[in-house]
Amino acid sequence: MNSEHSADPSKLQAAQNILRAGFSSGRSKSLTTRLQLLKKLEAMVLENQEAICAAITADFGRPKEDTIIAELSVVIEEVKTAQKKLKKWMAPRKQWMPLVLFPSKGYVAPVPFGVVLIIGPWNYPIQLLLAPLISAIAAGNCALLKPSELTAHCSELMCKLIPQYLPQEIVQVVAGGIEASEQLLELKWDFIFFTGSTQVGHSVARAAAKYLTPTVLELGGKSPCIVDSSANLEVTARRIWWGKILNAGQTCVAPDYILTPRENVEPLIEALKKVLLEFFPNGFNRSQSFCGIVNERHFKRLHGIASAHRDDLRIGGQTQTENKLIEPSVYVFDLAKADSAALMQEEIFGPLMPIVAFDRSQQAIDYINAHDHPLALYIFSSDQKFIETVEEQTQSGSLVVNDTVIQLATSKLPFGGVGASGMGAYHGQAGFQAFSHLRSVLKRPFWLDLPVRYRPITSWKMYILRKLFSFQKQKKLPSPAR
Ligand code: NAD
Repeated sequence: MNSEHSADPSKLQAAQNILRAGFSSGRSKSLTTRLQLLKKLEAMVLENQEAICAAITADFGRPKEDTIIAELSVVIEEVKTAQKKLKKWMAPRKQWMPLVLFPSKGYVAPVPFGVVLIIGPWNYPIQLLLAPLISAIAAGNCALLKPSELTAHCSELMCKLIPQYLPQEIVQVVAGGIEASEQLLELKWDFIFFTGSTQVGHSVARAAAKYLTPTVLELGGKSPCIVDSSANLEVTARRIWWGKILNAGQTCVAPDYILTPRENVEPLIEALKKVLLEFFPNGFNRSQSFCGIVNERHFKRLHGIASAHRDDLRIGGQTQTENKLIEPSVYVFDLAKADSAALMQEEIFGPLMPIVAFDRSQQAIDYINAHDHPLALYIFSSDQKFIETVEEQTQSGSLVVNDTVIQLATSKLPFGGVGASGMGAYHGQAGFQAFSHLRSVLKRPFWLDLPVRYRPITSWKMYILRKLFSFQKQKKLPSPAR
């Protein structure tokens, strides 16, 4: 059995012990095993697509098409890339050694951390558990997975499928709630990969500090979207709604709010209205393709935020309590009001879109810089100078010009945050590297043992050492420009 459903500490320790024995056996480290495991993981996803889509629909009403586009496609891209590139990623990188180390060979070899813990969130419950697992396996680790308790059907499915496809001494799954997570974090791991809220990220970092465990934290926050007056509003509106409506805005990199010049507000609202009609010609009440909000707590939270902004509402505003559905809705207010606005206090994580009007573009940049570094920053503009200014003056996990969320469609761009939106990155080779320690290896033979570095250090030895280390007087440096 390699899945457990309880937070019993002795069972959690037992699960970790199995993985420790598995890692000690060395099986997870060979290229052949890694490739076999990745192939099995790929088969698990491909053979169970229907079951995965059904589990997500049962958990929070996400339409099947969205699961295929935004969840399974990422896993398949990751697992295929890992199989194709693994041999190259694993190859030690030879380094030329300096004369002072003659004779010697030096190289840098990626080696697995060992037994790793992967904690997943609920919003992409399969992708955000399996994509890190692909990186963990590719890097030669053994892994324990803890899916989110908020998506119980997906968690059940992972507990059922993973033991059928992957050996228990390499991968274990533990289903359970916050208590299980906390108890898992009490144990000593060789590496922790956490995806979830910034708030829980603090707890994970504190727990990791106890054993100085290396971590990757994939966190959240508010991802701003600047739309300047030079943007093509029709395309802008389509790409913003696409990223916001996906998973009903419950995406870590969903555009959280729009910053736009005051004169652009009305044309942008018209464009957003038009695109909503294109996407949902039958309207909110009769369309089947809206995704639900994950639970009553979050539904009420979003309802509360929307109610606080009743006077700012410009598009949408309807809800369906029985299905926990919220209509994509747009609110408009002034930048001066942003700091006190309910919509701007925390990551929205729902289909509510505030448009915040500014007078000078520097105000938008200053507003972003006055808050936590975002996971993603989006700019819609045709003005290259403005795009460069934003790129130079801001910081964020990723920066996307003229689109939203689509940066996840490739394993070539590392995915991760900075500051409060996270630390470390993964996807593709970045994921392999995140789960590897880069070990420096230096190998020397016995046949030559020059006495020059050994005591006593005489003046001729000192002369040679200075030569070997290139101790030379520096040319006079120019004085700094004033
Ligand atoms: P969450 O932080 O509430 O939960 C994530 C996981 O942590 C769950 O498995 C949960 O059981 C566990 N957990 C909860 N409280 C804990 C505690 N006190 N101690 C230890 N573990 C605990 O996040 P969520 O609601 O599942 O997901 C939404 C958040 O995740 C959003 O902020 C979103 O932006 C972020 N997110 C980030 C990424 C990313 O890749 N950066 C991806 C998806 C979601």
